[in-house]
Amino acid sequence: MLARLLLPLMLLVPALACAAKAPAIPDHQAVKVADGVWVIHGPMEQPNADNRGFMNNPAWVETSAGVVIVDPGSSVQVGDMVLRMLRAHTDAPIAAVLNTHEHGDHWLGNQAIRDAYPEVPIYAHPNMIAKLDTGLGETWIDLMHTLTNGATDGTVPVGPTLPLDDGDVIAIGDRTFNIHHKGPAHTHSDIMIEVPELKLLFGGDNVINGRLVRLDDGQIAGSIGSLDYALTLDLAVVVPGHGLTGGSEIVREYRDYLDALHSTVVRLFAEGQSDFEMKDAVVEACARWSKWAGFDDEIGRNLNRAYLEVEAAAF
Ligand SMILES: [Zn+2]
Repeated sequence: MLARLLLPLMLLVPALACAAKAPAIPDHQAVKVADGVWVIHGPMEQPNADNRGFMNNPAWVETSAGVVIVDPGSSVQVGDMVLRMLRAHTDAPIAAVLNTHEHGDHWLGNQAIRDAYPEVPIYAHPNMIAKLDTGLGETWIDLMHTLTNGATDGTVPVGPTLPLDDGDVIAIGDRTFNIHHKGPAHTHSDIMIEVPELKLLFGGDNVINGRLVRLDDGQIAGSIGSLDYALTLDLAVVVPGHGLTGGSEIVREYRDYLDALHSTVVRLFAEGQSDFEMKDAVVEACARWSKWAGFDDEIGRNLNRAYLEVEAAAF
């Protein structure tokens, strides 16, 4: 019986993987946020059929030895769009791709860069590279296919192969990329990428501006610690994983949200409240962020996540 159930499923998987490439997505304007640094700020939404899965902040850094692309998006179509926008500004070769963490909305676009430049090196945290062997890419491709009604079809996982961990420094042309990973934060594979010559930080999803996101794959207390570390850096420009680019104030604002959430849960847990009982108090403690996109959908889930973490820490 099991075999009869599994066989059609097994046939379905290659069918999905070989799906014809869905149409190109529209152009999205790139904004210059620092000398030679451009960001395409994605919509403040979950992946859906209208945005065709595009909702992160792909970016590139122009150096004297070529262009470094950060997080080329959620599909081959988004990666193609990023390359089109990039080529409107520079003809320089692509020197490297950096992925800030394991979530597919940030890295499935690698495929487009690798298709155009087969030799391009792709870097990420070793915890992300390890997860590629356990179906990380396929899981995200299936999720994107479902959420976008097939607008990302044709995407295959092209993961990073080169590790970058805390304290690593790579110099590309006239730019330095300092890598920061202070343990579990948004996920277990985040790197924050500092370009000291520009006082610029790519925060990945450790830094979100104007939107709440799922926190299920990381650690809220660790996220706060990572952001406290980021606040010790000399920063003029911070590119978040989602939301508009700003200065270090966007790091503090997201840190303060996470701290309001976490500290309220810690206090009410100590008073013996269940996650259900503390919902109103947490919403009130986080009211400052209630206008952020996704607040109503995510605050309950963020609370549940914080509760599980605080409960686990208590035993
Ligand atoms: Zn993420």
